[in-house]
Amino acid sequence: MPAYPHLFRPLELPGVTLPNRILMGSMHTGLEARPDGMTRLAAFYAERARGGAALIVTGGFSPNDAGELGPHRVQMSSEADAQRHRVIPQAVHDTGGRIVLQVLHSGRYGFHQNIVAPSPLKSGINPQVPREMAADEIKQTIVDFVRAAVLAQTAGYDGVEVMASEGYLITQFLAPRTNQRQDDWGGSLENRMRLACEIVRQIRTATAPQFIIIYRISALDLVEGGLSGAETVQLAQAIERAGATLINTGIGWHEARIPTIAQAVPRAGFSWATRRIKECVKIPVIASNRINAPESAEELLARGDADMVSLARAMLSDAEFANKAKAGDRAGINICIACNQACLDHYFIGQPASCVVNPRAGRETTLLFKKTLTRKKIAIVGGGPAGLSCAALAAERGHEVVLFEKAAQLGGQFNLAKRIPGKQEFAESVAYYAERLRRAGVKVLLNHPASALELERFDEVVLASGVEPRKPAIPGIDHQSVVSYVDLLSGRVRAGNKVVIIGAGGIGFDVALYLLERSSRAALEAVEFNRHWGITQDLAVAGGLASGGMEQAHSEFQITMLKRSATPFGNTLGRTTGWVHRTELARHGVRMLKAVQFLKIDDAGVHIAVDGKELCLQADTTVVCAGQDSVRPFSRESTNFHSIGGAKEAVELDAKRAMLEGAELAARL
Ligand code: NAP
Ligand code: SF4
Repeated sequence: MPAYPHLFRPLELPGVTLPNRILMGSMHTGLEARPDGMTRLAAFYAERARGGAALIVTGGFSPNDAGELGPHRVQMSSEADAQRHRVIPQAVHDTGGRIVLQVLHSGRYGFHQNIVAPSPLKSGINPQVPREMAADEIKQTIVDFVRAAVLAQTAGYDGVEVMASEGYLITQFLAPRTNQRQDDWGGSLENRMRLACEIVRQIRTATAPQFIIIYRISALDLVEGGLSGAETVQLAQAIERAGATLINTGIGWHEARIPTIAQAVPRAGFSWATRRIKECVKIPVIASNRINAPESAEELLARGDADMVSLARAMLSDAEFANKAKAGDRAGINICIACNQACLDHYFIGQPASCVVNPRAGRETTLLFKKTLTRKKIAIVGGGPAGLSCAALAAERGHEVVLFEKAAQLGGQFNLAKRIPGKQEFAESVAYYAERLRRAGVKVLLNHPASALELERFDEVVLASGVEPRKPAIPGIDHQSVVSYVDLLSGRVRAGNKVVIIGAGGIGFDVALYLLERSSRAALEAVEFNRHWGITQDLAVAGGLASGGMEQAHSEFQITMLKRSATPFGNTLGRTTGWVHRTELARHGVRMLKAVQFLKIDDAGVHIAVDGKELCLQADTTVVCAGQDSVRPFSRESTNFHSIGGAKEAVELDAKRAMLEGAELAARL
């Protein structure tokens, strides 16, 4: 019996049998509009199909100009588009896999000059007011969706996913929040559902019977004026009648102020919302959001919450997720840690999506790890993210690798990160890389700082010795109340009630969250998560938002965060996750002072000047989170000596750069 029997049961669809229950969910990769995008996407998806995903959904392609997400043309609206796409389904089919094209109309979420919506109402995440669609334009949009599906069929795709969640155009028609029309397309639920149902119905008529139509429903809107659970169920039933093959689920509109995929969300934390749809339709229903481990997927399938699971980021972090799960090799799976740093955050800054813990993702045609013809002896000094990445890949290429780590365990800064509430997933990466090193035959020497003499016998030396906390030159910095973030997060010291944090970068925020979580213990399990963020399972409530709003927060700590710069707090945090941390700190009443000048620290507290005024902040504990400096126990000018990660450059270091530098060096050695 396989380790995950429900996950590896075939799924019968009309004319098609899927070998397992794993769907690779749609992700914006940022490759779609690039000149070499189709070739790169073909390699990207083929690798995931080879990895065992039963069905893949591409990123979103617009059916027409108005539906574009951004200024670059990413469409399926012409024969030429269909021709360009051919290489993608071909590459996936060559592996025995299946792939469908996602058709997405952005509506008022588009970032270009010609955005449209059912009503001319601006969203909170886009300054532009959309133009109200005329009735003829709505009918033409249905035609455009159908044309996109027919072209997808011509290109060789196995089907389409109609993107109707996350607050895009179809969702905007469904919800009273955004649809205030008085005509056949607004008012009653039947009218608001008309666009969605007509799109599915007409695609069904225009395509082959076995052509897969996935409708991605918003299982939970999480915005005021969204659909109630009961209306969502009615919609699902109407979509089934219209001819959809499968219903996939999305959670929350992009403008919702509740985390839906960030680390704070418990694993598979929204599968209850999928279940209530599954219970009311006969076609298979797919659960999504924060399903990153096979055991979570198996549990929710065994519970009957869904018929299939959608993994998107989890397929970036490990293209072979499905094959490994099938083989019962849980320890061999590179688990997605839900950081969004190299995937979604990249998309918002116009960079192709990749993955922090798997830098090869999105670089399938450029970052290649060929077996070496010359086996070298390689020393890696430091077992943090950069060293782990380099050691694993260099050894897998066939080199003889020894890793020196002065601490008692591998992981470096990840061992601090995993202590932050919601960042427990970092422990997965440490365990995964430790196992990968073992399998690759890396000799790991713990509690072993490398000596210059030892390094002389190696052909290549890689300095991945990381960083140490910066000690700012503030008078009184050695006062007994002052600790570094390492002291606090490692558990070596406990904070008093009044805490001042010096520095408000990622680690300053992490420290505040760490202290608050220790006192509030919130947001860990699905039920607590819902209470914490004000989500109700009451079917009658619009948008799924509880009337009392978010839970009141209590903390034993009075925290003040200080920084010298005048920029907004949290502006260096991730685009898609920073707001969650800011919300959490604000609800706990964390005080934030910027443009601060540090004067001194003494028994009275931390003395600062702000706007020319001097004040003293009482502090039982002052935590220094003022960045880091590189640790370089050796410096040698020679061609066989390489620095990566924090040892190379401490400024703006993060795990993404560290692991990428480790991987790129390993490919060259
Ligand atoms: P950081 O982001 O560079 O922030 C350091 C903070 O200390 C800033 O507020 C800085 O800015 C202040 N500072 C620097 N030198 C100082 C001095 N001499 N005296 C007083 N204050 C000083 O570094 P970090 O917080 O240590 O984070 C390290 C890296 O890990 C960063 O790249 C960060 O993005 C990443 N990280 C990210 C996350 C995340 O959630 N995405 C979490 C943790 C870490 P001012 O000049 O304004 O005071
Ligand atoms: Fe997951 Fe982070 Fe990788 Fe994105 S970058 S796939 S969130 S581990």
